[in-house]
Amino acid sequence: MLLPPDFHVHTEWSWDAPRGSMERTCERALQIGLPAVAFTEHADFVTIHAGQRSVDVRGYLEAVERCRHQFKSLRILTGVELGEPHWFPEETAAVLGAGRLDRVLGSVHCVRIGDRPVDASQFRGLPPAEATDAIRAYFDELLSMVESTQPFELLAHLDYPKRYWPDGIGPYREEDFESDMRAVLVAAEKRGLVLELNTTRNDAGEERFCPGIKVLRWWHEVGGEAVSFGSDAHDPDKLAGGFELATQIVQAAGFKPSPDPVAFWRR
Ligand SMILES: [Zn+2]
Ligand SMILES: [Zn+2]
Repeated sequence: MLLPPDFHVHTEWSWDAPRGSMERTCERALQIGLPAVAFTEHADFVTIHAGQRSVDVRGYLEAVERCRHQFKSLRILTGVELGEPHWFPEETAAVLGAGRLDRVLGSVHCVRIGDRPVDASQFRGLPPAEATDAIRAYFDELLSMVESTQPFELLAHLDYPKRYWPDGIGPYREEDFESDMRAVLVAAEKRGLVLELNTTRNDAGEERFCPGIKVLRWWHEVGGEAVSFGSDAHDPDKLAGGFELATQIVQAAGFKPSPDPVAFWRR
């Protein structure tokens, strides 16, 4: 079966991708028979990590044009991964106004604890009770972003804290956050968002996808229209990682492939 397009990929234009390379990612896409790719660089406005910043949209778009010229048989879409856009409406508008972006992802990576933004990767350092609160706060924040008027189309890595699950609070179980996630899914359906299946941690199979099949089924149940696939690769070698398994579970959850190489999978 034809692989679905990878609509969540980072290159050297993202601050956290030292191994990223747009050119090598295009080469890799052609090698593995990927029909299309969207380069969705980070537009982050919090500064939690050293070097964290937004993307230089103009320079990035020029790089995309060079790659389109060089790799004519690959469909290359532009894009951006907005971090907490509802906290930064002006900055977000500036990024989106700087050029045409085909795939706009909405992401929450952090929550505010007190006044301080804390990234989900730092939840592990919190005492267990605070870590649990931070995870609930994450889903609340995600709901705020979805209910905001920020113009994004794809909801990225729905249960992102799963990637950095703290010790001492028991294993991650989707059921424990079912009402939180369903509220987000209902709001996402209402505004016609596309749910992303993020496969970046695919070493342990479906269990580490964001989200897994159970949540994809909830998405189908609440009337969710479409699903997108994203490897969240920060390295060309990780492009479309886990996609074979991902396509199976998305189909099992009730979504169908499209013959159009740049289309989402739909119910
Ligand atoms: Zn992200
Ligand atoms: Zn990403």
